[in-house]
Amino acid sequence: MILIVEDEPISALIAAKALSDNFITHHAASGQEALDFCSHRLPDIILMDINMPVMDGLTACRKLKESESTQEIPIIFVSSHNSPEAEDECWEAGCTDFITKPFSVTTLRHRVNSHLAAKLMADKLTRLATVDGLTEVQNRHYFDGFLGNQMKLCTRMKHHIGLILIDIDNFKLYNDTYGHIKGDYCLRAVADALGKVLKRPTDCLARYGGEEFAIVLPHTDLSGVQYIADSMLNAVRNLNLPHKLSSFSRITISAGGICLSPQDLTPNELIQKADQKLYAAKDAGRDQFIIE
Ligand code: GH3
Ligand code: MG
Ligand code: MG
Ligand code: MG
Repeated sequence: MILIVEDEPISALIAAKALSDNFITHHAASGQEALDFCSHRLPDIILMDINMPVMDGLTACRKLKESESTQEIPIIFVSSHNSPEAEDECWEAGCTDFITKPFSVTTLRHRVNSHLAAKLMADKLTRLATVDGLTEVQNRHYFDGFLGNQMKLCTRMKHHIGLILIDIDNFKLYNDTYGHIKGDYCLRAVADALGKVLKRPTDCLARYGGEEFAIVLPHTDLSGVQYIADSMLNAVRNLNLPHKLSSFSRITISAGGICLSPQDLTPNELIQKADQKLYAAKDAGRDQFIIE
């Protein structure tokens, strides 16, 4: 989907007409409208005019490049300002390309096509690097970066952060009884059930290791973290996956976690504290959580 940001209706129409055979296009009439649009939906490419009322294209481009959720969207400036200085300003604001008005419709189409192909390839690589192939939740690499960043953010804002570690109970016995293929299916089903409990866009679920998951809950107090852990235990119980060698007769999980203001702690220290609680939950009989 392509977002055309242009205050002149005729120019917006020409661009939309050039692209609408191959792409879905949307229109925003100012930089501010473009930012508002991107807070709800992420376009694959943005065509950006420079001079617009309310907020000009350069300001909008800089703001989009500052925000984590929008910084990867390629921005192509389409403008009649073709002085080297004006072009430089666009590149410095973080644009991907620059097209001068009046533009050739064919060139616009080809440029958009080529940037779109590069964007889709970059998205695919990012996904491969950050998502676990089996369960499709975030992988350990993503989790490590995310936890560090969120701890810094919560320290700066003097907010609490929650970390929950989850481990499937008696999973070796499950594999031994039902085989690894069923084991993999079970891992996917558990990951899916855990993911459905999370509702906030800032929460993160990752596969931490073999049959272990980690959940980061930024800006969340202790009762919130306990609520999430309790809901996750229930979600896994409700899957009702039979496990005849478990004393619960079905797949269950144990969870350990903590909730605190993260100043003066390293991510590893935070993980260690959660891990101790997880061990305590296992020792206390499994299928339960200990969050402090
Ligand atoms: P506990 O209740 O103490 O956690 O016991 P457990 O058997 O779950 O723990 P243990 O660490 O002994 O075994 C973990 C098992 O998880 C062993 C390993 O075969 C299995 N496992 C790890 N990764 C995968 C995977 O990707 N697929 C499958 N099918 N099994 C996996
Ligand atoms: Mg204009
Ligand atoms: Mg384990
Ligand atoms: Mg286990």
